[in-house]
Amino acid sequence: MTFKKWIKSLIFFEILMGMKETMKHFLNYRPITLEYPHVKKSLPDNYRGMLGLLRYDDGTEKCVGCDLCEAACPSRVIRVVSAEVPGEPTKRYAKDYDMDMTRCLFCGLCVQACPVDALGMSQEFEWAVYDKRHLQLNKQQLLAIGDRAFPEREKRLEFQHPNVAYFNVSFKDIPEKEC
Ligand code: SF4
Ligand code: SF4
Repeated sequence: MTFKKWIKSLIFFEILMGMKETMKHFLNYRPITLEYPHVKKSLPDNYRGMLGLLRYDDGTEKCVGCDLCEAACPSRVIRVVSAEVPGEPTKRYAKDYDMDMTRCLFCGLCVQACPVDALGMSQEFEWAVYDKRHLQLNKQQLLAIGDRAFPEREKRLEFQHPNVAYFNVSFKDIPEKEC
């Protein structure tokens, strides 16, 4: 052991350095407590809060009932019951769409899996409830969250991408096969 190391161990140098940092923060103390709920912290843009279902600008639900979100969810939060759009056999929608938010990990995999961006993560986090059955949300509740959190809505997919319009038309618009 060198003389310098011996002196350092004698005066407990590492402990002194640690105490120096502690005292620095102690003397420069500034309260960071917010008076919640009167004052709320601003959240980052990519904050993952309560999930919501989105609509197009004409009010149509974006969800096409494809079940991909249900398949992607690692916690089995989502239950989708898909059905044909009445009178349009090539189109489907979610007849029922439920989420058991007591199980959600807020991982965002369902949002990534959705092919039509029908799901979004809002910045809502004040969802403490006395009865956890209130966290089992149905389609109307999820649409209401989407309406609140995402007031800016996209145009319908067929108006954004003309190619999609061709594949997404009902049977009556498909040209007949030549015999
Ligand atoms: S955020 Fe994750 S855990 Fe929650 S519903 Fe979506 S996929 Fe499931
Ligand atoms: S939310 Fe998206 S992934 Fe889930 S069923 Fe609807 S369209 Fe499919």
